[in-house]
Amino acid sequence: MKYRKMLTSLPKPPGAPIPTAHGPRDWQKDMQDALRGRDALLQFLELNPTEAPESLLENPKFPILVPRGFARRMRPKDWRDPLLAQVLALSRENLRVDDFSDDAVGDLASQVVPGVLHKYASRVLMMISAQCAIHCRYCFRREFPYGDLPRGKDGHEDAWSYLENAEGVDEIVFSGGDPLFLDNKRLEGILDHAASLPRIRTLRFHTRLPIVLPSRIDSGLVNMLAKAGDTRAVVMVVHANHPNELDETTRMAAQALRRAGVLLLNQTVLLHGINDDADTLADLSRALVAQGILPYYLHQLDRVSGTAHFETPESHGLELIASLREKLPGYAVPAYVRELAGEKHKRPLT
Ligand code: SF4
Repeated sequence: MKYRKMLTSLPKPPGAPIPTAHGPRDWQKDMQDALRGRDALLQFLELNPTEAPESLLENPKFPILVPRGFARRMRPKDWRDPLLAQVLALSRENLRVDDFSDDAVGDLASQVVPGVLHKYASRVLMMISAQCAIHCRYCFRREFPYGDLPRGKDGHEDAWSYLENAEGVDEIVFSGGDPLFLDNKRLEGILDHAASLPRIRTLRFHTRLPIVLPSRIDSGLVNMLAKAGDTRAVVMVVHANHPNELDETTRMAAQALRRAGVLLLNQTVLLHGINDDADTLADLSRALVAQGILPYYLHQLDRVSGTAHFETPESHGLELIASLREKLPGYAVPAYVRELAGEKHKRPLT
Protein backbone atom coordinates (compact mmCIF):
# COMPACT_ATOMS: atom_id res chain seq x y z
CA MET A 1 0.00 0.00 0.00
CA LYS A 2 2.80 2.35 1.01
CA TYR A 3 4.63 1.37 -2.18
CA ARG A 4 1.66 2.26 -4.42
CA LYS A 5 1.34 5.56 -2.64
CA MET A 6 5.02 6.32 -3.15
CA LEU A 7 4.69 5.64 -6.88
CA THR A 8 1.54 7.63 -7.41
CA SER A 9 2.95 10.60 -5.47
CA LEU A 10 5.70 11.13 -8.05
CA PRO A 11 5.13 14.17 -10.27
CA LYS A 12 3.09 13.29 -13.35
CA PRO A 13 1.01 15.90 -15.13
CA PRO A 14 -2.29 14.12 -15.86
CA GLY A 15 -2.85 13.64 -19.56
CA ALA A 16 -0.07 15.99 -20.63
CA PRO A 17 2.70 14.67 -22.90
CA ILE A 18 6.03 14.61 -21.09
CA PRO A 19 8.79 16.52 -22.91
CA THR A 20 12.19 14.91 -23.36
CA ALA A 21 15.43 15.99 -24.95
CA HIS A 22 15.06 13.36 -27.67
CA GLY A 23 12.80 12.68 -30.60
CA PRO A 24 11.77 9.37 -32.13
CA ARG A 25 14.59 7.40 -33.74
CA ASP A 26 17.41 9.62 -32.37
CA TRP A 27 18.59 6.59 -30.44
CA GLN A 28 18.59 4.38 -33.51
CA LYS A 29 20.85 6.90 -35.27
CA ASP A 30 23.07 6.90 -32.18
CA MET A 31 23.29 3.11 -32.37
CA GLN A 32 24.17 3.18 -36.06
CA ASP A 33 26.98 5.53 -35.07
CA ALA A 34 28.20 3.38 -32.14
CA LEU A 35 31.83 2.29 -31.89
CA ARG A 36 32.23 -1.28 -33.10
CA GLY A 37 35.43 -3.23 -32.54
CA ARG A 38 38.64 -2.66 -30.62
CA ASP A 39 40.37 -0.37 -33.09
CA ALA A 40 37.43 2.01 -33.49
CA LEU A 41 37.15 2.36 -29.72
CA LEU A 42 40.86 2.88 -29.16
CA GLN A 43 41.15 5.33 -32.03
CA PHE A 44 38.27 7.35 -30.55
CA LEU A 45 40.19 7.51 -27.25
CA GLU A 46 43.51 8.29 -28.97
CA LEU A 47 45.07 5.06 -27.74
CA ASN A 48 47.45 2.87 -29.69
CA PRO A 49 46.77 -0.88 -29.32
CA THR A 50 50.50 -1.63 -29.54
CA GLU A 51 51.02 0.38 -26.34
CA ALA A 52 48.37 -1.46 -24.31
CA PRO A 53 49.54 -2.30 -20.76
CA GLU A 54 48.30 -5.86 -21.23
CA SER A 55 47.33 -8.21 -24.01
CA LEU A 56 44.05 -7.35 -25.77
CA LEU A 57 41.64 -9.40 -27.86
CA GLU A 58 41.22 -8.00 -31.33
CA ASN A 59 38.08 -9.83 -32.46
CA PRO A 60 36.39 -11.38 -29.41
CA LYS A 61 33.42 -13.70 -29.91
CA PHE A 62 31.43 -11.28 -27.72
CA PRO A 63 32.24 -8.23 -29.87
CA ILE A 64 33.13 -4.77 -28.62
CA LEU A 65 30.21 -2.34 -28.88
CA VAL A 66 30.07 1.11 -27.25
CA PRO A 67 27.76 4.07 -27.99
CA ARG A 68 29.80 7.20 -28.68
CA GLY A 69 27.98 9.15 -25.95
CA PHE A 70 29.23 6.63 -23.39
CA ALA A 71 32.75 6.66 -24.85
CA ARG A 72 32.77 10.47 -24.51
CA ARG A 73 32.53 9.96 -20.74
CA MET A 74 35.87 8.10 -20.84
CA ARG A 75 39.15 9.97 -20.39
CA PRO A 76 41.09 10.08 -23.69
CA LYS A 77 44.61 8.56 -23.67
CA ASP A 78 43.99 6.74 -20.38
CA TRP A 79 44.25 2.95 -20.40
CA ARG A 80 43.09 2.90 -16.76
CA ASP A 81 39.78 4.65 -17.38
CA PRO A 82 37.09 2.83 -15.34
CA LEU A 83 34.52 2.98 -18.15
CA LEU A 84 36.97 1.74 -20.75
CA ALA A 85 37.85 -1.18 -18.46
CA GLN A 86 34.20 -2.31 -18.60
CA VAL A 87 34.17 -2.67 -22.39
CA LEU A 88 37.73 -3.46 -23.51
CA ALA A 89 38.29 -7.17 -24.25
CA LEU A 90 41.43 -8.55 -22.59
CA SER A 91 43.16 -11.81 -23.51
CA ARG A 92 42.48 -12.87 -19.92
CA GLU A 93 38.86 -13.49 -21.00
CA ASN A 94 40.06 -16.67 -22.67
CA LEU A 95 41.45 -18.19 -19.46
CA ARG A 96 39.43 -21.12 -18.13
CA VAL A 97 38.99 -20.68 -14.37
CA ASP A 98 37.51 -23.23 -11.95
CA ASP A 99 33.97 -22.45 -10.79
CA PHE A 100 33.36 -20.05 -13.69
CA SER A 101 30.83 -21.40 -16.19
CA ASP A 102 28.68 -20.28 -19.12
CA ASP A 103 25.44 -20.25 -17.10
CA ALA A 104 26.52 -19.24 -13.61
CA VAL A 105 23.09 -18.19 -12.35
CA GLY A 106 21.08 -21.13 -13.71
CA ASP A 107 19.14 -19.22 -16.36
CA LEU A 108 18.69 -22.23 -18.62
CA ALA A 109 17.37 -24.48 -15.85
CA SER A 110 14.75 -21.87 -14.94
CA GLN A 111 13.55 -21.32 -18.53
CA VAL A 112 9.92 -22.47 -18.52
CA VAL A 113 9.19 -21.55 -22.14
CA PRO A 114 11.69 -20.02 -24.58
CA GLY A 115 12.62 -16.56 -23.29
CA VAL A 116 10.74 -16.86 -19.98
CA LEU A 117 12.66 -17.47 -16.75
CA HIS A 118 10.70 -18.34 -13.62
CA LYS A 119 13.09 -18.35 -10.66
CA TYR A 120 11.21 -16.56 -7.92
CA ALA A 121 7.65 -17.11 -6.66
CA SER A 122 6.01 -13.76 -7.39
CA ARG A 123 7.77 -12.61 -10.55
CA VAL A 124 8.59 -13.91 -13.98
CA LEU A 125 11.35 -12.62 -16.24
CA MET A 126 10.59 -12.14 -19.95
CA MET A 127 13.52 -11.77 -22.33
CA ILE A 128 12.03 -9.53 -25.00
CA SER A 129 15.22 -8.46 -26.77
CA ALA A 130 18.44 -10.24 -27.58
CA GLN A 131 20.36 -7.01 -28.17
CA CYS A 132 22.13 -4.47 -25.99
CA ALA A 133 23.47 -1.00 -26.74
CA ILE A 134 26.79 -1.83 -25.10
CA HIS A 135 28.70 -5.04 -24.51
CA CYS A 136 29.89 -5.20 -20.90
CA ARG A 137 32.77 -7.64 -20.59
CA TYR A 138 31.53 -8.94 -17.18
CA CYS A 139 27.99 -9.58 -18.48
CA PHE A 140 26.28 -12.49 -16.71
CA ARG A 141 24.47 -13.41 -19.94
CA ARG A 142 27.40 -13.06 -22.33
CA GLU A 143 27.15 -16.79 -23.15
CA PHE A 144 23.34 -17.02 -23.22
CA PRO A 145 22.01 -18.73 -26.39
CA TYR A 146 20.04 -15.71 -27.61
CA GLY A 147 19.64 -17.30 -31.02
CA ASP A 148 17.04 -19.67 -29.50
CA LEU A 149 14.76 -16.85 -28.31
CA PRO A 150 11.38 -16.32 -29.98
CA ARG A 151 11.34 -13.60 -32.63
CA GLY A 152 8.80 -11.31 -34.24
CA LYS A 153 5.63 -9.78 -32.90
CA ASP A 154 3.90 -13.13 -32.45
CA GLY A 155 6.94 -14.71 -30.87
CA HIS A 156 5.75 -14.27 -27.31
CA GLU A 157 2.53 -16.30 -27.47
CA ASP A 158 3.92 -19.11 -25.33
CA ALA A 159 5.15 -16.55 -22.80
CA TRP A 160 1.71 -14.93 -22.52
CA SER A 161 0.02 -18.33 -22.14
CA TYR A 162 2.45 -19.20 -19.36
CA LEU A 163 1.83 -15.88 -17.59
CA GLU A 164 -1.94 -16.24 -17.82
CA ASN A 165 -1.70 -19.43 -15.80
CA ALA A 166 1.19 -18.56 -13.46
CA GLU A 167 -0.36 -18.68 -9.99
CA GLY A 168 1.08 -16.19 -7.51
CA VAL A 169 2.91 -14.13 -10.14
CA ASP A 170 2.08 -10.43 -9.93
CA GLU A 171 5.14 -8.90 -11.58
CA ILE A 172 6.78 -9.17 -15.00
CA VAL A 173 10.47 -8.31 -15.26
CA PHE A 174 11.30 -7.30 -18.84
CA SER A 175 14.87 -8.13 -19.61
CA GLY A 176 17.11 -9.39 -22.39
CA GLY A 177 19.59 -8.34 -23.76
CA ASP A 178 18.10 -4.93 -23.09
CA PRO A 179 14.30 -4.66 -23.21
CA LEU A 180 14.43 -1.01 -24.26
CA PHE A 181 16.26 -2.01 -27.42
CA LEU A 182 12.84 -2.82 -28.87
CA ASP A 183 11.30 0.08 -30.73
CA ASN A 184 8.31 1.87 -29.23
CA LYS A 185 5.76 0.11 -31.44
CA ARG A 186 6.90 -3.37 -30.41
CA LEU A 187 7.18 -2.30 -26.80
CA GLU A 188 3.68 -0.85 -26.83
CA GLY A 189 2.27 -4.16 -28.06
CA ILE A 190 4.00 -5.96 -25.20
CA LEU A 191 2.86 -3.45 -22.57
CA ASP A 192 -0.72 -3.60 -23.86
CA HIS A 193 -0.66 -7.38 -23.60
CA ALA A 194 0.79 -7.22 -20.09
CA ALA A 195 -1.92 -4.75 -19.09
CA SER A 196 -4.56 -7.28 -20.12
CA LEU A 197 -3.35 -9.75 -17.49
CA PRO A 198 -5.41 -9.00 -14.39
CA ARG A 199 -2.99 -10.55 -11.89
CA ILE A 200 -0.02 -8.43 -12.99
CA ARG A 201 0.39 -5.39 -10.75
CA THR A 202 3.98 -4.38 -11.49
CA LEU A 203 5.91 -3.98 -14.74
CA ARG A 204 9.64 -3.88 -14.19
CA PHE A 205 12.40 -3.14 -16.72
CA HIS A 206 16.00 -4.17 -16.25
CA THR A 207 17.87 -1.86 -18.58
CA ARG A 208 21.23 -0.16 -19.04
CA LEU A 209 19.97 2.16 -21.80
CA PRO A 210 19.07 5.19 -19.64
CA ILE A 211 22.75 5.22 -18.64
CA VAL A 212 24.62 4.19 -21.79
CA LEU A 213 22.18 5.51 -24.43
CA PRO A 214 20.01 8.21 -22.79
CA SER A 215 18.60 9.22 -26.18
CA ARG A 216 16.50 6.03 -25.95
CA ILE A 217 14.36 7.84 -23.39
CA ASP A 218 12.37 9.63 -26.05
CA SER A 219 8.95 11.20 -25.78
CA GLY A 220 7.16 8.17 -27.25
CA LEU A 221 8.66 5.88 -24.64
CA VAL A 222 8.02 8.05 -21.61
CA ASN A 223 4.43 8.73 -22.62
CA MET A 224 3.89 5.00 -23.11
CA LEU A 225 5.31 4.29 -19.65
CA ALA A 226 3.19 7.04 -18.13
CA LYS A 227 0.10 5.43 -19.67
CA ALA A 228 1.11 1.99 -18.39
CA GLY A 229 1.59 3.56 -14.96
CA ASP A 230 -2.08 4.59 -14.85
CA THR A 231 -3.03 0.99 -14.10
CA ARG A 232 0.21 -0.70 -12.96
CA ALA A 233 3.30 0.19 -10.99
CA VAL A 234 6.18 0.76 -13.41
CA VAL A 235 9.67 0.16 -12.03
CA MET A 236 12.93 0.61 -13.92
CA VAL A 237 16.15 -0.88 -12.61
CA VAL A 238 19.02 0.82 -14.43
CA HIS A 239 22.64 -0.28 -14.28
CA ALA A 240 25.56 2.02 -13.49
CA ASN A 241 28.85 0.91 -11.96
CA HIS A 242 30.88 4.09 -11.68
CA PRO A 243 30.02 7.76 -10.99
CA ASN A 244 31.65 8.81 -14.30
CA GLU A 245 28.80 7.03 -16.11
CA LEU A 246 26.37 9.72 -14.95
CA ASP A 247 26.22 13.12 -16.62
CA GLU A 248 23.73 15.73 -17.78
CA THR A 249 22.32 13.39 -20.46
CA THR A 250 21.51 10.66 -17.92
CA ARG A 251 20.07 13.30 -15.56
CA MET A 252 17.63 14.44 -18.24
CA ALA A 253 16.64 10.87 -19.06
CA ALA A 254 16.05 10.09 -15.38
CA GLN A 255 14.04 13.26 -14.94
CA ALA A 256 11.75 12.39 -17.87
CA LEU A 257 11.22 8.90 -16.48
CA ARG A 258 10.40 10.20 -13.01
CA ARG A 259 7.93 12.68 -14.48
CA ALA A 260 6.28 9.68 -16.13
CA GLY A 261 5.83 8.16 -12.66
CA VAL A 262 8.50 5.49 -13.11
CA LEU A 263 10.24 4.34 -9.92
CA LEU A 264 13.98 4.38 -10.64
CA LEU A 265 16.42 2.00 -8.97
CA ASN A 266 20.01 1.13 -9.81
CA GLN A 267 22.02 -2.06 -9.72
CA THR A 268 25.80 -2.13 -9.70
CA VAL A 269 28.21 -5.00 -10.22
CA LEU A 270 31.21 -4.98 -7.88
CA LEU A 271 34.16 -4.94 -10.30
CA HIS A 272 37.81 -5.32 -9.42
CA GLY A 273 39.86 -2.25 -10.33
CA ILE A 274 36.76 -0.32 -11.42
CA ASN A 275 34.58 0.36 -8.40
CA ASP A 276 35.94 -1.79 -5.56
CA ASP A 277 36.82 1.11 -3.31
CA ALA A 278 34.57 2.88 -0.83
CA ASP A 279 35.04 6.42 -2.18
CA THR A 280 34.04 5.39 -5.72
CA LEU A 281 30.96 3.52 -4.52
CA ALA A 282 29.98 6.40 -2.21
CA ASP A 283 30.35 8.88 -5.08
CA LEU A 284 28.25 6.60 -7.28
CA SER A 285 25.46 6.48 -4.69
CA ARG A 286 25.55 10.27 -4.28
CA ALA A 287 25.46 10.80 -8.06
CA LEU A 288 22.53 8.38 -8.43
CA VAL A 289 20.51 9.98 -5.64
CA ALA A 290 21.20 13.43 -7.15
CA GLN A 291 19.56 12.15 -10.37
CA GLY A 292 16.59 10.67 -8.50
CA ILE A 293 17.75 7.04 -8.76
CA LEU A 294 17.87 4.91 -5.62
CA PRO A 295 20.87 2.55 -5.18
CA TYR A 296 19.22 -0.88 -4.98
CA TYR A 297 21.71 -3.74 -5.38
CA LEU A 298 25.46 -4.13 -5.28
CA HIS A 299 25.99 -7.51 -6.94
CA GLN A 300 28.84 -9.83 -6.20
CA LEU A 301 30.12 -10.82 -9.66
CA ASP A 302 28.32 -13.77 -11.25
CA ARG A 303 30.96 -16.38 -12.02
CA VAL A 304 30.53 -16.46 -15.78
CA SER A 305 33.29 -17.77 -18.07
CA GLY A 306 35.68 -15.03 -19.15
CA THR A 307 35.00 -12.67 -16.27
CA ALA A 308 37.27 -13.93 -13.45
CA HIS A 309 39.59 -10.91 -13.67
CA PHE A 310 36.68 -8.70 -12.52
CA GLU A 311 36.06 -10.62 -9.31
CA THR A 312 36.55 -8.97 -5.91
CA PRO A 313 36.50 -11.19 -2.79
CA GLU A 314 33.28 -11.13 -0.79
CA SER A 315 35.27 -10.25 2.34
CA HIS A 316 36.33 -6.99 0.63
CA GLY A 317 32.76 -6.33 -0.49
CA LEU A 318 31.64 -6.59 3.14
CA GLU A 319 34.30 -4.06 4.21
CA LEU A 320 33.10 -1.71 1.48
CA ILE A 321 29.49 -1.91 2.65
CA ALA A 322 30.56 -1.21 6.25
CA SER A 323 32.43 1.85 5.01
CA LEU A 324 29.45 3.01 2.93
CA ARG A 325 27.25 2.84 6.03
CA GLU A 326 29.55 5.36 7.69
CA LYS A 327 29.64 7.66 4.67
CA LEU A 328 26.05 7.66 3.45
CA PRO A 329 22.46 7.85 4.67
CA GLY A 330 20.84 4.42 4.89
CA TYR A 331 18.70 4.87 1.76
CA ALA A 332 21.84 5.41 -0.33
CA VAL A 333 23.54 2.15 0.72
CA PRO A 334 22.68 -0.65 -1.75
CA ALA A 335 21.95 -4.19 -0.60
CA TYR A 336 25.01 -6.37 -1.21
CA VAL A 337 23.79 -9.62 -2.79
CA ARG A 338 24.81 -12.54 -4.91
CA GLU A 339 22.66 -14.70 -7.16
CA LEU A 340 23.13 -18.43 -6.89
CA ALA A 341 21.60 -20.92 -9.29
CA GLY A 342 18.51 -22.63 -7.88
CA GLU A 343 17.97 -20.30 -4.88
CA LYS A 344 14.52 -18.77 -4.35
CA HIS A 345 15.82 -15.23 -3.89
CA LYS A 346 19.08 -13.29 -4.17
CA ARG A 347 21.31 -14.12 -1.23
CA PRO A 348 21.97 -11.11 1.03
CA LEU A 349 25.68 -10.94 1.87
CA THR A 350 25.36 -8.46 4.70
S1 SF4 B 1 23.75 -4.15 -20.79
FE1 SF4 B 1 23.37 -5.81 -19.30
S2 SF4 B 1 22.74 -7.57 -20.54
FE2 SF4 B 1 23.72 -6.09 -21.93
S3 SF4 B 1 25.89 -6.66 -22.02
FE3 SF4 B 1 25.72 -5.13 -20.39
S4 SF4 B 1 25.40 -6.34 -18.50
FE4 SF4 B 1 24.97 -7.69 -20.26
